[in-house]
This record gives sequence, structure tokens and C-alpha cells, in this order.
Amino acid sequence: MLIVMKFGGTSVGSVQALEKVIEIIQRARQQGHQVIVVVSAMNGVTNLLLDSAQRAELGDEQAAHQARQQIAAKHLAATTHFLGQTPNRDAVMAEINSLLNEFESLCHGIRVLGELTPRALDVIGGLGERISVPQVTAILNQANIPAQAVSATELIITDRRFGAAVPIIEATAQKTETKLRPILSAGEVPVITGFIGATEDGIPTTLGRGGSDYSATIIGRAIEAHEVWIWTDVNGVMTADPRVVPEAHPIAHLSYAEISELSYFGAKVLHSQAIRPSRRVGMSVRILNTFEPDHPGTLITADSVESGRTVKAITAIKAMSLINIQGPGMVGLPGIAGRVFTAVGRTQSNVLMISQASSEQSICFVVPMTDAAKVVAALERELVLEIERRDLERIKAEDNVVVLAIVGAGMKGTPGVSARLFGALGREKINIIAIAQGSSEFNISLVVAQDESDCAVRAIHQEFELDKPIE
Ligand code: ADP
Ligand code: ASP
Ligand code: MG
Repeated sequence: MLIVMKFGGTSVGSVQALEKVIEIIQRARQQGHQVIVVVSAMNGVTNLLLDSAQRAELGDEQAAHQARQQIAAKHLAATTHFLGQTPNRDAVMAEINSLLNEFESLCHGIRVLGELTPRALDVIGGLGERISVPQVTAILNQANIPAQAVSATELIITDRRFGAAVPIIEATAQKTETKLRPILSAGEVPVITGFIGATEDGIPTTLGRGGSDYSATIIGRAIEAHEVWIWTDVNGVMTADPRVVPEAHPIAHLSYAEISELSYFGAKVLHSQAIRPSRRVGMSVRILNTFEPDHPGTLITADSVESGRTVKAITAIKAMSLINIQGPGMVGLPGIAGRVFTAVGRTQSNVLMISQASSEQSICFVVPMTDAAKVVAALERELVLEIERRDLERIKAEDNVVVLAIVGAGMKGTPGVSARLFGALGREKINIIAIAQGSSEFNISLVVAQDESDCAVRAIHQEFELDKPIE
């Protein structure tokens, strides 16, 4: 099989993890598979880079300098462990240091200008992966796995939406095939930067936080791989975030529809868009644990496998705002929903959930808290007359709310799921602020206050007995 393997931040983040990476790739090759590797930045590095850029904008250049030293030390420790104090190690460190010089001068420029553009932020954010690739490539070569570094800017062509770029499929397929096929034919392992791409005219972009998962499926689709394996630090997709619910269990099988709801609604284990390229072509995706490589993890395919469970998992997405539009004149206003969402659309904010009371007295919807101010401003401009006439009240944003989503194909047509859900939250005295059911019936989402989120997730997890392993 041709397999794209993506190793996340923790999976390339320490000597112990990198040893596992070597074993995993070696074993797959011994079993006769061809392997393409996509790597993330070492864990913590992307955050350091982005924080430093933001501080530089506020006039603090020292943060970048400290971050640089921290990142260099982390890489030096790993490369020295695998390569020893050799010219080979020095060559890798020289490449890493030259990228870190670029980082410091970019931050210097930002401080001088006092401005950080989304475009500059993408160049800086993507440096972590560019630093990681030469290191992993050299480590694999040292372990007698012939490997070649490849920059995803030569493969993944995107639009210009900095910070959340969207791949252009045809151009990407052509570039990927031309670049990767000869490397594979030579029996080598391409080691590719996750997270980043470039526009048609070569401007660097990123695919959004956690985007290396998406890189892997984009490349998998482009090269017509048989499977994509996402190597991370947990035993697959779990019934809930294991940091919130320690009793959460890995789920053996999920359909594309189920995982897309889960990742969209905050299951950090997979980037929200990552399943799309695989879904298009029916390519299987596995979520596997680098630190427990024999665990079967989660297999994601087109079909939903009956597990005897109506609800399979619960997710929470934090730092949201609920925008509420209401007023006595709402019922009589024709086309109000259209006008509202056109105005919101112009702000380029992502609307996660919409709910309208059947009395038509109000519409409410959820956007990320960081977008709330511009959404409210856009709506007040659009609805200025109605607000002046007092047909509508002033637009309000309720900050610090969370969208919870319960997901499972078995919910379709099963009565009583909502009753159990409300019962569980009622017992914990958790107030439900809004609710919506996806038309797929695979998902019910609801809004609660952020400080009640963890308690709500645990209550729902217990109610649907997700802590019990499936026989
Ligand atoms: P990587 O660096 O490998 O991409 P991430 O940190 O992005 O790893 O994603 C893995 C983490 O996602 C897990 O360590 C876990 O804490 C978190 N997570 C949140 N929700 C879930 C879930 N439903 N199933 C599994 N992991 C989850
Ligand atoms: N390094 C990037 C991030 O932290 C991408 C990734 O890890 O998938 O967001
Ligand atoms: Mg991730």
C-alpha cells in the first residue's frame, strides 16, 4: 500500500517520540508499504513562534529572541542524540539556525512597523514545520531509511486566505504527482512540511491551527494513496476529550459523516477540514498512537458501523459568543434571516450553529468570540433602521459560551435522545442557552456557559454510558 503518515507535534517532539517514529516507518517499509511522511513542528514550537510575532507587534522583540533560543536548544538536543556531534548534525543545525535567523528578522520588522499582517503571521507560523523537516529527514537517513526533505509549498497550492487557506485541488494534484512520484520510485521516503502551502504565485500560507492533518489528507488524495495514518498521542478518536473526561474510550470505527461533525465541533484530534479530501475519494484514514503503535486506534471510512450506541461521542468548542437578534417587529420582517446572514457572511466569520425559535421572535447564532465585535457592528449597520424604529432590540453578544455537540449515526430515528440529554444537564442544574439539531440527525448541538462546560460534558458522557467499553 501507499500510505501517507502524519506525525503530530508530540510525535516528533522528543527523543523518545522520534525513536518511535523511526520504528513505525521501518516496520511499514518492511511490510512492503511505500511511505510518505508529513511532519508537524515539535510540540510547543508553533505557539512560541506565533506568540513572539504578536509580542513584536506590541513592541517586544526580546520574546522572539528568547523563543529562538528555546527552539534551537530543543532541536539541538534531539539532533545531537540521533546524529552525535558530527558534521551531519552541524549541517542540520545550520539549516535550522538560518530559519531561526529569518524568524528573528521578521519579528524585528514587525516591531519596527508596529504591524502584524495575516500574511506575515503565516510565514512565521509555518517556520516550525520548516525547521522540523530537515531534522526528521536526517534522523531517518541516519537510521538507514532513505529520506528526502520536501517543502509543501512546492506541493499544496492554496487560495490567499491567510490563516485558513483552502487547497486548489487540480494544481495540487499535478504538483504533488510530479514532485513525489520520482522520490517514491527511487525507494525514498519524502518528508514533507505539514501545515503550510503556497499560493499560485508562491506566497506562503497556512491551513489553520492543527493543519498538518489536513496536509496529510490533501497529499494523500493528490497522490492517490491507499490510506492516511494520523499518528498522535492518544489511542484514536475518543468518546470525549480525555483531558476533560478521564474515563473516555477510543472509538474503533467512525464514518466520514461522524468524524466531520466531531472535528468541526472541536475534537482537536483531527483538523476540522481534514476528512474532506479523503471523503471525496473514499480513502480510509486511521488515527493511531505513536506511543502505542500496536493499538488499532480509530478507522474512518464511508460506512457507519453499528456499535450498538446511539451517541458515540461528545465534543465541546470553547471561547464562543452567542449573538441574539430579537424584537417585537421580528415576525413581520420579510427576509430578515437572509439579510442577517449576508451581513455576517461579509465579515468572513464562521457561524457554528444557528437556532431560531418557532415563534420567529428571535434568531440566535454562535461565532468565535474573536469575531463577535465585528459581527455585531456589521449587524447594527445592516439593521440600523429596524433598530431605530424599535422593531428590533440592540444586537447583543453573550461571550464565553461553549457549543457542545453529541454525535452518532445511531441517533437518527432513535426517540428519546434529547430527553436523556436534557435530563442529564437538568440534574446538574446546567442551563441550556440554545439548542440546534443538524438535519443529518447525526448531531445535536447546544450552547452552555463556558464555566459549566466540563461538568456538562462529563454528565452527558455518563448518561449515555460512554465510559463503558463496547463489548
Ligand atoms: P497532534 O499534535 O498529534 O496533532 P493534537 O494535540 O492536535 O495532537 O490532538 C491530539 C489531542 O486531542 C489529544 O492529546 C487530546 O488531548 C485531544 N482531544 C480532544 N478531543 C479528543 C477526542 N474526542 N479524542 C481524542 N483526542 C481528543
Ligand atoms: N504546528 C501546527 C500547529 O500547532 C500544525 C499542526 O501541528 O498540525 O497548529
Ligand atoms: Mg493536531
